[in-house]
Amino acid sequence: MYTDSHAHLDGKRFDADRGEVLARAHAAGVTTLLAIGNGDGPGTGTFDCAIKLAEQYEWIYATVGIHPHEAALAQPPDFDELEALAKSPKVIAWGEIGLDYYYDHSPRDAQQHVFVQQMEMARAARLPIIIHCRPSDNSENAWDDLLRLLREHWASTGLGGVLHCFTGTVAHARAALELGFVISFAGNVTYPKAQNIRDAASMVPLDRIFIETDCPYLAPLPYRGKRNEPAYVIETARQIAQMRELSWEEIGQRTTDNFFKFFRLARFD
Ligand SMILES: [Zn+2]
Ligand SMILES: [Zn+2]
Repeated sequence: MYTDSHAHLDGKRFDADRGEVLARAHAAGVTTLLAIGNGDGPGTGTFDCAIKLAEQYEWIYATVGIHPHEAALAQPPDFDELEALAKSPKVIAWGEIGLDYYYDHSPRDAQQHVFVQQMEMARAARLPIIIHCRPSDNSENAWDDLLRLLREHWASTGLGGVLHCFTGTVAHARAALELGFVISFAGNVTYPKAQNIRDAASMVPLDRIFIETDCPYLAPLPYRGKRNEPAYVIETARQIAQMRELSWEEIGQRTTDNFFKFFRLARFD
């Protein structure tokens, strides 16, 4: 069994065959999935996209949140909407939130402000956070700011969180583990040039790892360049299994156990 801890299933790229994609995932052994509820961003009325899916499928859970790309668009009513949606019984985390200094789609001060504001809301809602962090090329700028803001605004909650699609260094992984975070690896762990990600995936304790697709983005080898989908999470399990000299099934089982334990979910399988 496998858990895809991070999937964007709401976009147009799945409109034609979303049901088939989910049936394929289930048939491949994906028994649990966390649907990310950023939707199309503030003001579009789509923050409930993951909740809608989670209400339809027992094995799907949901998040809500404003992505750093869209931070500059956030207005007070968006936060009210998120606060209400976060009460849905299928919402188990707040995210993805964080900092993206690679694209800089929103000014960095707006990204930081909206990130801090959402940490405060997640604290009030007692939800862990799902973090997106991407620095500029050849820089650790977003990591420096992220770790500082987590220490100032989040560590004291004890709620922890998930560093999704981890692309940092072993030192970043260690700092996040110390803050009570789980590290989630995506399909880019299979890419030939991603040795830094593989180094981190070899180091993180087995009970602190999740696997994810981040679909429709970042399809793993051998599907690279195509639309990614939850069934392909097995390729990430395969890569990590090979490095750690375990079977794919064991990585699937362990990361699924980690997911249920971290989110304190009851098992129904
Ligand atoms: Zn992300
Ligand atoms: Zn994502």
